[in-house]
Amino acid sequence: MRETTDILISGGGVAGLTAAAAFGSAGFRVVCVDPTPPVTRIEDEGADLRTTAFLQPSIPVLQAAGLWDRLAPHAAPLQIMRIIDAGGEYPDPRIVKDFDAADISDQPFGWNLPNWLLRREMVARLADLPDVSFRAGLATTALLTREAEAIATLSDGTRIAARMVIAADGRNSAMREALEIPVKTTRYGQKALAFAVTHPIPHRNVSTEIHRSGGPFTLVPLPDRDGMPCSAIVWMETGPNAERLAALPVAEFEAEMNTRSCHILGPLTLVSRRSLWPIISQIAERMAGERTALMAEAAHVVPPIGAQGLNMSLADLRVLLDLAEADRDAIGSAAMLATYHRKRHWEVQARVTGIDALNRASMMGAQGLRDLRATALNALYSVAPVRKTLMRAGLGVR
Ligand SMILES: Cc1cc2nc3c(=O)[nH]c(=O)nc-3n(C[C@H](O)[C@H](O)[C@H](O)COP(=O)(O)OP(=O)(O)OC[C@H]3O[C@@H](n4cnc5c(N)ncnc54)[C@H](O)[C@@H]3O)c2cc1C
Repeated sequence: MRETTDILISGGGVAGLTAAAAFGSAGFRVVCVDPTPPVTRIEDEGADLRTTAFLQPSIPVLQAAGLWDRLAPHAAPLQIMRIIDAGGEYPDPRIVKDFDAADISDQPFGWNLPNWLLRREMVARLADLPDVSFRAGLATTALLTREAEAIATLSDGTRIAARMVIAADGRNSAMREALEIPVKTTRYGQKALAFAVTHPIPHRNVSTEIHRSGGPFTLVPLPDRDGMPCSAIVWMETGPNAERLAALPVAEFEAEMNTRSCHILGPLTLVSRRSLWPIISQIAERMAGERTALMAEAAHVVPPIGAQGLNMSLADLRVLLDLAEADRDAIGSAAMLATYHRKRHWEVQARVTGIDALNRASMMGAQGLRDLRATALNALYSVAPVRKTLMRAGLGVR
């Protein structure tokens, strides 16, 4: 069987679903496929327990996709980013620096939402869009491109001819591999544990990154849970240590996480399962191939520091959508995709390089290096223009 569409999206993760909603809202015909049906309830096996902090520039993209009104009621604002260095001899905060969104804007830095809830709201939005067909349970298995169209084969044998394919099929993207676009991968031997906690001390919309060794321990605000203040945690550690922590009985795990959190929000209580995520950096050599745009983790993967990953993906989407709307007949053309590559690749490269450096600084084990890191944090923070530039750069605004 052969079908035609304007846009075929390979991958219905958070990035692919947002792209489907955005292009569907803009009046394009969209088919989006994913072999794994999205898990939309927190209690179900396979629920994505991570959260995503959407930074300011991502909100207009979510609005254009008709998603923000659905998401906003569930979001926790991030007003302050607190960086703590606890890299001294004992795991106590020795430097605490607050980056306040009020210094650069009248809005919070961003808003945090659980990933399983994002999928629930995104799938519901797609059901409202007559020109979008979301097909869970199907993978793309082959891609043939020529100047005028791309033809993708699905796992049920269907062939779909599209003017543009969007590869949003993750770090091992089948579409990227079909186009033979090489990637550069950096492995850190690190894993991230993601889980949720409640705590007696309110977070007051402060997101906190605590650096000691092994990688950052980050607490991101969530709305209250059962009347208790609640946060999402991403705890990065060397691989074997992360696996050991994930397997510990709850009481022992809580004892270790309380030491690592420096007790800043009082005793933390684990209120979710613990999920483990391998940490890499990766960048594709090109953001596009013939009739195909790479976006999100198919194009770039970064360690979860400073809430950059999905926000970079929505920046990809913003550029693609602007180009498509500026010249609707030219979607997927060589000229459009060359512009997309040019507008996105240098920025993606800069962010991958910057986050790699931050991650390496946070992993440092040797005391002398940790002391240097603390000195650098002090120096960067104390110069107000540098501090504000760093905040704007983190957000992706000028
Ligand atoms: C612990 C952790 C915390 C994070 N926190 C943040 C944060 O606060 N803010 C932020 O911006 N980012 C964050 N990120 C990054 C963010 O989660 C990722 O950028 C994002 O989830 C990746 O989205 P994606 O859709 O590209 O990839 P994925 O979520 O991997 O989606 C890819 C999809 O493609 C599908 N697929 C695979 N093969 C095929 C095929 N052949 N055909 C069709 N579909 C296919 C898969 O089933 C999957 O559903 C975090 C990451 C981690 C690990």
